[in-house]
Amino acid sequence: MTAAWLSDVADRTAAAGLHRAPIARRSGATEVNLASNDYLGLSTHPDVIAGAHAAIDEWGTGSTSSRLVVGTVQAHIDFEDDVARFLGTDAALMFSSGYLANVGAVTALAGRGDLIVSDTGAHASLIDGCRLSRARVVVVDRGDHEAVRRALAERNEERALVVTDSVYSIDGRLAPLRELYAATRATGATLLVDEAHAIGVRGPGGRGLVAECGLSGAPDLVVTGVCSKSLGAQGGLVAGSTLLRAHLIDHARTFIFDTGVNPAAVGAAHAALRVLVADPGLPDRLLANARRVAAAIGADEPDSAVVSLIVGDPVAAVAAAQECRDRGVLVGCFRPPSVPDGTSRLRLTMRADIDDATIDTVAAVVRDALAGARIGAA
Ligand code: PMP
Repeated sequence: MTAAWLSDVADRTAAAGLHRAPIARRSGATEVNLASNDYLGLSTHPDVIAGAHAAIDEWGTGSTSSRLVVGTVQAHIDFEDDVARFLGTDAALMFSSGYLANVGAVTALAGRGDLIVSDTGAHASLIDGCRLSRARVVVVDRGDHEAVRRALAERNEERALVVTDSVYSIDGRLAPLRELYAATRATGATLLVDEAHAIGVRGPGGRGLVAECGLSGAPDLVVTGVCSKSLGAQGGLVAGSTLLRAHLIDHARTFIFDTGVNPAAVGAAHAALRVLVADPGLPDRLLANARRVAAAIGADEPDSAVVSLIVGDPVAAVAAAQECRDRGVLVGCFRPPSVPDGTSRLRLTMRADIDDATIDTVAAVVRDALAGARIGAA
C-alpha cells in the first residue's frame, strides 16, 4: 500500500519535471563550481583546513552531547565571542546549522498568542520556525515594508516578531532592512534578519547587510547567520544582546535537544572568520566577479553572490544545467516549488577565488547551454 502511494507521487513528480537527486561531487574534481555557497572559496583554504584539524586534535571528532550537558568546548565559546565582535553585537550563540538556528530563534521568540510577520522570500527554515511556533503568521509580499508596518500596527497581540532574509536566497536581491527596522521600532516589535547570504558578501569587510545599513547591535534586532556559506564550514549563528543569548539557551529547542556542533566545524568556521578579517577586500572581489559574469550572460546586475537567470520552463532549465555540467561548469537549477511556476532558472553562485579568464569561459558555456536548451524545449 505504502509503496503504491509513494510510486504514484514519484511518477507525478517526474512527469512534472520536478524529480530531484543529490549528485555526489567527485574527489579532486576539476569543474568550475558555481553552484555552491562557498562564496569566498574558504572551504578549501589551507588555514581553514588547518583550523578544523587543530580543533579535532584538541577536542576530538564529536562534541559528544548537547551543548547544555558536556557538548560545549572552549572552541564554541571563543568562536561565539569573535562572531559577536565581528557583527557588532553583545553576544552570539552557535547552533548545528543555519536551519536549526532559524527554527530555534523563531520558536523561542514567538509562540501562541503572538504575531509573526514573514514574507514570500523567507527561507524554508524561517517558514518552518513560523509553523512550529504556533503564533499567528501573516505573510506579506517580499519587500512590502508598508504591509509589514500595517500588519504590526493593526495587531491585537502584544508581542510581534518580523522575520526576513537580508539577501533573498533565490535571486540574491536585498530586503529593505532600514524600513523594516523602522516599522518594528515604531510598533514595539522585534526584527529577526537572516544574514545567511550576506555575511562575507555585503557590508564593511563582509559584516552583512545589517552592518551596511548602520544597524549593528541595534536594540530589538536579532541577526541569524550560517557558517556553511562564506565561512566554508558548517553551523548556524544567532547574534544580538546577552539577554537574547541567555533566552535562547533556556528556550530554543533546536539548541537544547541537539548535539553540539562538532569541533572541526567550529575550528574551520573560526579560522575562516580570521581569514575574512585579515582580508576585508574578499567580498568586493566576489561582487566584482558576480557582476562580470552577470553582464556576460545577460542577467540583471546582482546585489550579492547570487546571479539568477530565468529560463522559464523547468525541463529547459534542467537541460541547460546538465549541459553546463557536461562541459565542466557546475551551476544551480531552481524549479517549483522552490520558485513560482514559470520562473525556473539557472542560479550561479559566484566566488571570490576565480579569475577573469575563467569567468569568461563560464559565461560562454552558459550562453551555449541556454541556447541549446531553449531550442530543445521549443
Ligand atoms: N537561511 C538561508 C537564507 C539559507 O539559504 C540557508 C541554507 N540554504 C539556511 C538558512 C540554512 O543554513 P544551513 O544550510 O547552514 O542549515
